[in-house]
Parts: sequence; C-alpha cells; structure tokens
Amino acid sequence: MKLQVCAKTDVGRARKNNEDLFFVDVEQGLFVVADGMGGHAAGEVASQIAIETVCSFLPITDCCNPQEQLQQALEKANQAVEQAANGNPKWKKMGTTLSIVLLHNQRGYLAHVGDSRVYCLHNSQLEQISDDHSLVGEQIRLGIITPEQAKTSTFSNVLLQAIGVTPELDICQKNIKLASGDRLLLCSDGLTDMVNDAEIERTLKQPDSLNICCDKLVEKALAAGGRDNITVVVLQIDQLNQK
Ligand code: CA
Repeated sequence: MKLQVCAKTDVGRARKNNEDLFFVDVEQGLFVVADGMGGHAAGEVASQIAIETVCSFLPITDCCNPQEQLQQALEKANQAVEQAANGNPKWKKMGTTLSIVLLHNQRGYLAHVGDSRVYCLHNSQLEQISDDHSLVGEQIRLGIITPEQAKTSTFSNVLLQAIGVTPELDICQKNIKLASGDRLLLCSDGLTDMVNDAEIERTLKQPDSLNICCDKLVEKALAAGGRDNITVVVLQIDQLNQK
C-alpha cells in the first residue's frame, strides 16, 4: 500500500500545556491520537503512557486478527495509565482518549475510546467512523438532543469512558475497506469543537498537499478560538496493493 501522512499538533490559544499526543508509523501502518486529561500536567503523562504502551504492543503479528490485538493494546494502555495514576497522587484520575488506526490487508482497522475522532473522506464525502464516548454523543445517538443542541450543552465535555479511568472499556472497533484516494483523519476535540464537519470535509477534499491540509485544519481551529489543544493526523491512500 502506498500512502502519505502528515500530522500536526498545536497548543491552541487558551491552554498552557499541550496534553495531546500523536504517533505515526507508515511502515507499520499505525496511526494514533491521544488527548490526555488531568491536573498538574497529568494529561501529558497519560497520553504519553497510553501511546508508549500501544506502540510496545503493536504492530500486530500474523497469529491473531488485528481487532483482537487492538483490543488487547487498548486494555494494556488502560492498565498502564491506571497503574501510573495510582502510583502518584499528582496523577490521580488522569486519563486519555485513544484513537488508533491500523492498516492491514487493504483495510483500516479502528480501535477507539473517548471523544477524539476518526473520519474517512471517500469520494469527496466525509464520514465519522468513530463513536463519541461522551454524554452528548450518547444523547445524540438516542435522539434526545440534536448535534446543534450538543454544541451548547453544559455537558459537552463529559466523557463516558477514557483510558486509565474506566475499568471495563467498551472499545469502539470498526474496520473499513480502503480505496485509492481515500483520506483518513484522526483528530482531537480541539479541532472538532471548533470546526464543523462540513468545513472539515471542504478542507480535506481540496487537492492540497497533506502538509497544507493539516495547516489549514489547525488554522481554522485557531481562528475559531482555539480553546483547546488541536491535533490532526491526515493520511492519504495513494495506491492499494495489486492482488
Ligand atoms: Ca481536548
């Protein structure tokens, strides 16, 4: 599979620290975004431990299916963050979102916990692949509120589960068939709280280089207020293997 990737992270206009973290490994087809949370800069620790744990566990071996291994990687990350939090009072209750895309056999495997997001742009149409594990995300799914109402909800930051704080994870797992020309976006809520899906779609479908595309996404989030750390990872499938 031939692909390009570009990733950017920005502290934003309101925060002192950047608690977001990304990891990109084109060789292994592994792409991760983590958005940490917790006082005393513990969010940075949580996102780092989570990503390090995932990277030490992945890439996958041929013996198991990718979904099982992603599940195990997230559970290991969950234990590692929780153990670190229990070992240091400053890190109490720290946690992180974790969104992983693993490319394997022409497919994109997603494993995800939290309210970071994974999108796929296919035939110029943007689709959110990940579920938001947030209270408002659940309310939207149940038809209690509309996406518009969610934006002004006082519960907009309430997460239903996060790595390090939820003992029994309900991991969002999906896999999608990839096509040449598809673009995948992994991002933290610092982008999606500031820039709506229509604008993200418009930006991703421009024939810009991925570098410019990432710059534009970050700039739009900053221009809209940049209230949180902003992280974007954009990959583009240039060519699938001939089979
Ligand atoms: Ca965030």
